[in-house]
Formats: sequence, C-alpha cells, structure tokens
Amino acid sequence: MKRVVITVVGSSNTDMVIQGTRIPAPGETCVGGRFFMAAGGKGANQAVAASRLGAEVHFVGAVGDDWLGRQALDGLRAEGIHIEHVHSRPGVPSGVALILVSRTGENAIAVAPGANETLTSSDIEAVAPLIRCSDLLLLQLEIPLDAVCAAARVARNAGVRVLLDPAPAPVHPLPRELIACVDLIKPNFVEAARLVGHEIQDRHDAATAAKELRAMGPNIVIITLGSDGVVVLADGEPEHVPAFPVNAVDTTAAGDAFAGALAVAWATGTNIRNAVRFAAAAGALAATKPGAQPSLPTRAEVELFLAARGNESSERRDLYP
Ligand code: ADP
Repeated sequence: MKRVVITVVGSSNTDMVIQGTRIPAPGETCVGGRFFMAAGGKGANQAVAASRLGAEVHFVGAVGDDWLGRQALDGLRAEGIHIEHVHSRPGVPSGVALILVSRTGENAIAVAPGANETLTSSDIEAVAPLIRCSDLLLLQLEIPLDAVCAAARVARNAGVRVLLDPAPAPVHPLPRELIACVDLIKPNFVEAARLVGHEIQDRHDAATAAKELRAMGPNIVIITLGSDGVVVLADGEPEHVPAFPVNAVDTTAAGDAFAGALAVAWATGTNIRNAVRFAAAAGALAATKPGAQPSLPTRAEVELFLAARGNESSERRDLYP
C-alpha cells in the first residue's frame, strides 16, 4: 500500500480507566479492580490507529493549556503525527473520559469534552488547504457539529474522500448536509439505530438500516456489530462479514482501530472488501488489549495476524442467500 495522507479532525481526551468486575448500576458502588490513565478521544485514537498502520496523519483539534493537554500532545508527537493544527486553549480544561470496563470486556464511558468543545468552523477554514491536499478526511462526532460540517464541506468541494464515524451516537438527527458530504459512514449498531430511528437487534435490522443510511447520501455504509462482525453495503445488497474470533479483554477502542484501519486501507485504493478485512483484523487485535491508544495495533501486527488467521473471517456471507 502506498503512504496515504489522512487528516483527522476530532477530539483528544485523557482516558481514566477502571478495569473492575462489572459495570455498576446507577446509585451502586463496585469496589475492586485496577486503575490506569491513557491517551484517548475518538479523534486522537483514530489518528494514532491510522499512523501506526502506515499513514501520514495530520491531527486537527484542541486541548487545554494544562498537563493533561501537554501529555496528549507529547503522545501524538511521539507517534509521528503532525500536530501543528492542534490548538492549546488557555484556561480551558482538556477533555477527560471516565471509562469503566467489566470483567467480560463491556464498557461504559462518560466524557467531559473541555477544550474539544472550543473547536469552531473558523478553525477549520484555517486548515482548508491541508484538508484539500489530503487523500482522506476522517471525522467523528466528539467535537462541535459546526466544525465537523465545515470540514466535510471543504473535503467534499475538493473531491477528497470523507469517512465519518458517527460516534458517539448523536442525540439529534445529523444535518442532511453533513451526511450528503460523506462517502463512507461507519456507525456501530447503537449509532446506526439512532441515525435511522429504529432498533437494530440483529444483522437483518442492520442491513435494513444500512440501506436507509445509504439513501441519505454515503456510497458505502459499514455497520459494526462488535464480535458479530459487520454489515457492509457498497454495491448491490448488504453483506455480513464475520469478526475474527479472539479472546477479548477490553473492546474500548475496537471501533477506533477499525475506523483508522479502514481509512488507511480505503484511502490507498484497496477495494472495500479487503479494506473491511484489514479493519476487522485491527479491531479484533484492539479488543485483545486493555485501554484505548495502548491497544491500537501496528501495521506489522495486523499483517502478522492476517497471515496467521486470514481464512477465519475472509468470507462474506450473503444476508439473503
Ligand atoms: P465500537 O467500539 O465502535 O462499538 P465495535 O465494538 O462494533 O465498535 O467493534 C468494531 C469492530 O472491531 C467489529 O466490527 C469487529 O470487526 C472488531 N471487534 C470488536 N470487538 C470484537 C471482538 N470481541 N472480537 C473480535 N472482533 C471484534
């Protein structure tokens, strides 16, 4: 694959994680487990995922002028990511995510966005030349919608591919103008359900949702279903691609690993079938390690995994045989 240029416009957070026994119910306290901090935020995670998989990555975002922000920037720099367009906002706290992980690998997450909320469409206009000369623009929904829309518009007008991971699940319907600027949308099933306004309980519901999402504009719709793999709608009818079976310990950044890998492979010109396979391998590998950024695999790890396990998930299955 050739080295592609990917611009990520998105969030950077510090994840504060407790790996406990189970996720407490409201009002309940669960004692036990282990605490650690790690760099996170969907934007930064996906930037790191794409960089570790071989892309030249430019990150556009905002952190606070505090030690968490400085640590986040140091981390991105150490990954070789270009951070010239990350704003450091005086007097604003950096974004923080509190993450609870159960023994079975499920998670519950609360995010205080802090500086991420300060990113404006004017900040995006200032980086329009960078977006225009990228191979792909990678977006999520952890920054103000105005900024997301502005970035998508710049890319669309310049003919640059736009990949939107509509996460976290939007509370309100997304602006039609945003979805119309997106080439590939990659929600998980919770986010997809929110976007189409009905429940997704199985692959068939996901296939229906994929068709509804495609009708809104994106050429390609990929709905991720955790350990049940993905439903892909590109040409023709929706298809199911199973996940690689792995021993999952923490699925926190599986979706981010998947998105970053999909961006790299698809921007390179790989067909969508192989791009999904590459992304599924990255997602599966991320689920085998705790934390967000620490769990994101390198290109060598994904290639080794695919060489060893390639046949386990490579076959697409028709949803309507
Ligand atoms: P999100 O983290 O956004 O909810 P998913 O949990 O759907 O995303 O995971 C994204 C992709 O990562 C899945 O479609 C799958 O390919 C892979 N993945 C996630 N969890 C597992 C798992 N437990 N085993 C194998 N692959 C997984």
